Amino acid sequence: MEVLRLDHIGIAVESLDDALPFWRDVLGLELAGIEVVEEQKVRVAFLPVGDTEVELLESTHEDGPISKFIERNGGPGIQHLAFRVDDIEEGIAYMKEKGMLMIDENPRYGAGGASIAFVHPKSSGRVLIELSERE
Ligand code: ZN
Repeated sequence: MEVLRLDHIGIAVESLDDALPFWRDVLGLELAGIEVVEEQKVRVAFLPVGDTEVELLESTHEDGPISKFIERNGGPGIQHLAFRVDDIEEGIAYMKEKGMLMIDENPRYGAGGASIAFVHPKSSGRVLIELSERE
């Protein structure tokens, strides 16, 4: 497995409407699009910057992972870091071989058409890490 770049930084927000004025209007990042990923109960805003991206994550359900994160965290904040890898299947196998605990043992659909898998924060210093493969 090769890590190619920092793919995106996932930031949990209470609401995209409330968060966008800072990221788009103050920082001046371009809002490239918004996608609902129903399986993950999340609405994602994409703001590319250089060869990476800020992803703002708004929960679409009270029991979604982003809602739970905001509750545990005591408010919005950085939720995960995603690394672009050359091969997601190989990445999962590699992590397991290294003794890492995976949340996803099989790749699943991620925003923007990526193929993704999360590493359990227990294995990565309490930082939620996403592996992401994209065309
Ligand atoms: Zn992500």
